[in-house]
Amino acid sequence: GPAIDGAFLRRWLDAATQAVDREADHLTELDSPIGDADHGANMRRGFLAARTAVEQEPPDTPGAVLVAVGRQLISTVGGASGPLYGTLLRRAGKELGDEPVVTAARLRDALRAGVDGVAQLGGAAPGDKTMLDALLPALDALTGALDAGGSTAQALAAAATAADEGAEATTPLRARKGRASYLGERSVGHRDPGATSAALLVTALADTARE
Ligand code: ADP
Ligand code: MG
Ligand code: MG
Repeated sequence: GPAIDGAFLRRWLDAATQAVDREADHLTELDSPIGDADHGANMRRGFLAARTAVEQEPPDTPGAVLVAVGRQLISTVGGASGPLYGTLLRRAGKELGDEPVVTAARLRDALRAGVDGVAQLGGAAPGDKTMLDALLPALDALTGALDAGGSTAQALAAAATAADEGAEATTPLRARKGRASYLGERSVGHRDPGATSAALLVTALADTARE
């Protein structure tokens, strides 16, 4: 597979932005019954701004790309998802420092630090029907596949599958964090929009590694 360098993360950003743009209406539909119908618009605005910023001044290390995207999400997305995804990516990027090329295991460790940051900031636990319900299984699958000797592409593909399954598994859950939690029991039976967008972002990473 390709080296995980700045260009790799910039290709990921491109793939993620395309996926978010393509799925924006769907994400907003998911956010209608259990939220305020803006998740697709929030994600689209944030990722378009991030891609524009990165195209204008392309950062050359993986860490710098992640920090730049995180910063844009925090400054352009008004909803809960902006600071949460922004924290994830900024924290992960800082963890990578200024290394020009990183291993899949380093990327995994950095993403774990970022996901820990999401849990700290948002206070959600597994099963609370949030983006963490896609992100945590993705990290576990990534770790399992790397430990089993899988390639970067194989490990990221396993992470994407786990993220999708995790997002799907939010449907029967009762929301305990974010706007959806205001609905209590009535949040049951609806797929979480943030878990769904998280799976898109992980899938974009897997697609980038496969190219
Ligand atoms: P808002 O709810 O402010 O309109 P968005 O619609 O953009 O923001 O994002 C909603 C998503 O954010 C939810 O589907 C959920 O996955 C995620 N989310 C909300 N609150 C939390 C939290 N405390 N911890 C983790 N994720 C959260
Ligand atoms: Mg919303
Ligand atoms: Mg909102």
